[in-house]
This record gives sequence, C-alpha cells and structure tokens, in this order.
Amino acid sequence: MTSRADRRRAQKGARGGAKRPATIADLAARVERARAPGLGRSAEARGRRMLAAYLQTAAAHGLPLSRVVADLAEGAVTLRLGEVARDSLMQAPPPAVANAACADGCAFCCILTEGDGGLITETEARRLHAALTPLAGQPEGRAWHAAACPALDPETRSCRVYEARPTICRSFLSVDAAACETNANGGEAEGAGLLGSHVDYLAVQALARDLLKGIARVPTYAMARVAAGAVEGESLDDTLDGARHGSNVLERTCRDAAKAGGA
Ligand code: SF4
Ligand code: SF4
Repeated sequence: MTSRADRRRAQKGARGGAKRPATIADLAARVERARAPGLGRSAEARGRRMLAAYLQTAAAHGLPLSRVVADLAEGAVTLRLGEVARDSLMQAPPPAVANAACADGCAFCCILTEGDGGLITETEARRLHAALTPLAGQPEGRAWHAAACPALDPETRSCRVYEARPTICRSFLSVDAAACETNANGGEAEGAGLLGSHVDYLAVQALARDLLKGIARVPTYAMARVAAGAVEGESLDDTLDGARHGSNVLERTCRDAAKAGGA
C-alpha cells in the first residue's frame, strides 16, 4: 500500500524494532511460510512458486525493495502474475474456452447481481477509475439494468473500458448465454464461471498480504463501487475509501473460488 498512512505505519514498525526485510532476498525467505487461507494446498503452492520466481527476477534486475513492496501491496504483481497464469492456461485451453458462447454485446455477466461486482486489486481499481472518469455523466450500464456495471454501454452493451477491465472480467466465460441470463435474474444455472487461472491470481494476492503482514497493507476493492464512483465524478481517494473491502473478503473469495473450481 502506498498511502502516507501506510508508509508511516511501516516506518513506525521499523522504529519499534519489528523484523522487517532489508533485502528482496529477506522477503523471498518469507514466501515458504506465507499462507493463502481458503484456497487449498496446491493453489497455495502454485502461488508461492509464482511469487518466489517474481522475487528472484526482481532481485536479478536490481529493483529496490521499496518498489517491490509497493507493487505487491498495490496488486501490480498480482495483476501481472494473474496474466501469466491465464496466458499459460491458454496454451492448452480448456474445452470451455473453445465452446464459449461469449460475444460482443452479450452482457448478462456485466449484471452484478451480488452488488459487489467482484474483488479487484488497488492497481486494477486505479486503472478502472482513471479509464472511467472521463466518461462521467455519459449514459451508463445502470440505464439498461439497475444492477449492471456502470462501465457498460447501455446501448451497445459493450464494455466502455475494455482495455482497463479487471482480471475478474477477463477471466469469466460461459458456454451458455442463456445460463448467464438466468443467473443475472437470480437463478443458479450451470455453464458460466471463472477460468482456473483466477485461483492463481487470488493465491498471489492472498500470499502477498500474508508476506507483507506488519510491513504494508494489501487491500482489495469492490469493482462495482469503484466503477460507480468514477462515473459519478467521485475523486479517486474517496472512491478507494468507499470501495475498500473489509479484511475478511479476500479469504471468503478464495474459499468460494476453491469451491467453484474453474474452467
Ligand atoms: S459470460 Fe455469458 S453473458 Fe458474458 S459474454 Fe459470455 S455468454 Fe455472454
Ligand atoms: S468492467 Fe466492463 S467487462 Fe467488467 S463488468 Fe464492467 S462493463 Fe463488464
């Protein structure tokens, strides 16, 4: 986390004698002990391997520890390693990818029935807010459906910030658009869900949080609230404050993802 409050907290911890890593290697030494509650051992182990490889690369490139900590705290590392996991999955795509019914203008998955819209990192929240802010005041998704994502175009039903859409949007797919419509209306049809690589994204975020305990906070945010803040002209700081999750949401999300499995 890069807020002034978090930097002060981190400095206070250092002054108070808390054991803080002095090098990236010190941080890497903590990876083996880091936990991702709720995800299960194999996802946790994959996440650890990804984080260890990232830290090794960061050290080899001579990145400063402060930059590595900031990138872990803001979720830039989660975003990047999530992309790597998705790219890797796509080298041998699961059948659901080949059979996906997804098409531009098909937007039942952008109806965010549970209100929260899904978990995103700070890097994703900042990017989404920046992309949507110039569109404040324009017709938005909720003009089509009360629970639709504000980033949606209500006429074309396309994402207005496609390049800035978060990982959760990039990872969702369905083999049956009718199932998505049913679910958008409160049903529980099968056929739609997240790619398995999303579990790796969550694992990295959860492990990063554990890794930085006592050093920096690793927050998560509600995507729908971030999008709403941006289209309503709210400042980035106010949006982040309003959208920040309670500390238990990441673990709950991990448990749900582990239970659901993934394509
Ligand atoms: S996930 Fe469902 S609603 Fe979204 S584009 Fe694919 S088929 Fe359409
Ligand atoms: S950000 Fe875009 S893709 Fe994601 S839910 Fe909103 S409109 Fe849909």
